[in-house]
Amino acid sequence: MAAATTPAKRRTLGQIIRRLLLIDLFKGLALTFRYNARALYEPRDGGNPLQAIYTEQYPKELARVSERFRGAPRLNLDPENGASLCIACDLCAVVCPVDCIEVGSIRREVRDGDKVNKKKVLTTFIFDTSRCMFCNLCVEACPTDCLELTQSFELAVYHRSGFRWDREMLEKGINYVRYTK
Ligand code: SF4
Ligand code: SF4
Repeated sequence: MAAATTPAKRRTLGQIIRRLLLIDLFKGLALTFRYNARALYEPRDGGNPLQAIYTEQYPKELARVSERFRGAPRLNLDPENGASLCIACDLCAVVCPVDCIEVGSIRREVRDGDKVNKKKVLTTFIFDTSRCMFCNLCVEACPTDCLELTQSFELAVYHRSGFRWDREMLEKGINYVRYTK
């Protein structure tokens, strides 16, 4: 059975005139102009008050991310003596669902007063940012608040090998090239 065809809707005279005079186009342009005109006298928070730009000027200015954003990993140091807070317990590596953390350690004799104890000492730490899904499980498992996912989102690298952050990168962070033009 042939499908029934619906007759094309006839345009009213008002709609035809509206089309001919490009009314909808001018309405759209007026709305755009209203937003742009506002940008001329409403400077953006934290931006140059004399320059009313309302788009984010990245990389000149770092984009703001939400408080709960999880980005680049960091290994925190003790603020008093600069020593690593990591006790090489391996909990972060064990809990990671995608195995992107490798903790290296050795057992060393550590003198505590008259006593000499054997203690695990961190030697290497690898964090593969290409595999991480930023679930935060490793941070929650860390007993010393050493491991942290910071608000830095600049994780792009030129080569695949750059995704593997070693202990030095995790402790000192990355020196990004800042373009100012
Ligand atoms: S955030 Fe999740 S995926 Fe990334 S290293 Fe930690 S546990 Fe693994
Ligand atoms: S859980 Fe924390 S203390 Fe333990 S190995 Fe990982 S970063 Fe170090």
